Amino acid sequence: MSEQDYKVLPRDVEQGEFHQAIEKFRALLGDDNVLVEEAQLKPYNKIMMPSEDAEHAPSAAVTATTVEQVQGVVKICNEHKVPVWTVSTGRNFGYGSTAPHHRGQIILDLKKMNKIIHVDAELGTALVEPGVTYQQLYDYIQENNLPLMLSFSAPSAIAGPLGNTMDRGVGYTPYGEHFLMQCGMELVLANGEVYRTGMGGVEGDNAWQVFKWGYGPTLDGMFTQANYGICTKLGFWLMHKPPVIKPFEIQFEEETDIAEIVEFIRPLRINQVIPNSVVIAGVLWEASTAGVRRSDYTSEPGATPDAILKQIQKDKHLGAWNVYCALYGTPEQVEVNWNIVTGALKQLGKGKIITEEEAGGTEPFTYRAKLMSGVPNLREFGLYNWRGGGGSMWFAPVSQARGSECDKQYALAKEILNKHGLDYVGEFIVGWRDMHHVIDVLYDRTNPEETKRADACFNELLDEFEKRGYAVYRVNTRFMDRVAQSYGPVKRRLEHTLKKALDPNNILAPGKSGIDLDKFNDW
Ligand SMILES: Cc1cc2nc3c(=O)[nH]c(=O)nc-3n(C[C@H](O)[C@H](O)[C@H](O)COP(=O)(O)OP(=O)(O)OC[C@H]3O[C@@H](n4cnc5c(N)ncnc54)[C@H](O)[C@@H]3O)c2cc1C
Repeated sequence: MSEQDYKVLPRDVEQGEFHQAIEKFRALLGDDNVLVEEAQLKPYNKIMMPSEDAEHAPSAAVTATTVEQVQGVVKICNEHKVPVWTVSTGRNFGYGSTAPHHRGQIILDLKKMNKIIHVDAELGTALVEPGVTYQQLYDYIQENNLPLMLSFSAPSAIAGPLGNTMDRGVGYTPYGEHFLMQCGMELVLANGEVYRTGMGGVEGDNAWQVFKWGYGPTLDGMFTQANYGICTKLGFWLMHKPPVIKPFEIQFEEETDIAEIVEFIRPLRINQVIPNSVVIAGVLWEASTAGVRRSDYTSEPGATPDAILKQIQKDKHLGAWNVYCALYGTPEQVEVNWNIVTGALKQLGKGKIITEEEAGGTEPFTYRAKLMSGVPNLREFGLYNWRGGGGSMWFAPVSQARGSECDKQYALAKEILNKHGLDYVGEFIVGWRDMHHVIDVLYDRTNPEETKRADACFNELLDEFEKRGYAVYRVNTRFMDRVAQSYGPVKRRLEHTLKKALDPNNILAPGKSGIDLDKFNDW
């Protein structure tokens, strides 16, 4: 390939310079692991955000299979000031997918580094490389008949624990707060050194996956949702599979029930009667994952009228809110907790409880039960069929687990979405004391006018929620800088001070979470 042929270049890098970098990548990784052709790069440029694909086009993608190769990539990037955006399995749909933060960054794709290094069934620990998928780990557990259970995000089968945990993702079992369950990381730093967190730096020590804290400053968290290092190994905890898992659903009729639902769940959740991350899903989330499309009910543009939502609820036997929980333990433990839950519900005086037997293999109960039982599946992708057209952005503000908070957030979100002609397709996930409010802003990317509205809508959601003291916990690459601003200047200055010290050439994923030495001027 001649030097002139690179259509996309990294910011401030000239053709000749980039050509040299590519030649060095080829020498290090082999020709097959250095992708520069437009067709080869297409899969890395699939965005779901309301911006032009061109804004997120990579200049190249490289794949590595060893830690030494990752170190080599970092060295070349430093020599030629080429920024590198790392993905593991690259399934971060709705938060940016595999595309880089901005045009010209090269992709370091680690999906070929997919060794399950160690699983300890007694201690319930695992150590994996970046490319390991949840499906791969699930198969390994099944094939080896290990008494362990996984927790994962909804795209489970194709996504992986390392990437999900690095982005502080969540799942639906008692181990659903994934970063809490992380124990031990290995990272390639921007200067090429390999750093292990916790006990990992001690020669011969075997407590790396069981004791998080090690000695001195504990830095694991600093590397998540950040750009201070490339994670090449991740340790985490797995739950022992209990003798009984009892998934169930409670349906509530009215959208105004949300406050009472949360007040009912909170004590059961905090006291671990219900030990998993509880989902409270709105009617359209349920309908779309059960196969309903908007076009089944209307061809009118804009937000779907409430009357249609009620009709869908009736036709498909759904609640306005659908609460999913599970009980785990011995038959005796599960029975005690079941009695506590049903007793509390009786006191509440509303809500229809549905067991697995009563659901009888129907969707969405079945896929929800699988998520809560650690069985991978892809059912939730049905969300994309509701409106069609491939546009999706997660809006995910966090609040206290209080009914009054959810009431306010729900009303505000629905009002803003509907104002922009879009639907509220959302759920609340009750963590321990927090609520992740997860809204899928779905829109038709093939329609420029709707795409514009979606962009305006997302901006307004961020603005109006921030005015009321709510910020999001994670966001797609288009809005990373905007969200970083809402967390204040002190945090930003500290993060950029660290960046300057650790990565002075600004080569590791500039722009991730708003950290970018070329753009931040407020020192
Ligand atoms: C229908 C649907 C439902 C979803 N439900 C959930 C859900 O329940 N919970 C949830 O959390 N998410 C959910 N998501 C979002 C997303 O798909 C998952 O979080 C998915 O697990 C992330 O993809 P991944 O594991 O392949 O991570 P990757 O895409 O590989 O990585 C995610 C990000 O982490 C960083 N990163 C990755 N690898 C490294 C590394 N080696 N070193 C440093 N940084 C790295 C990068 O910034 C990357 O962009 C959902 C998406 C869809 C479409």
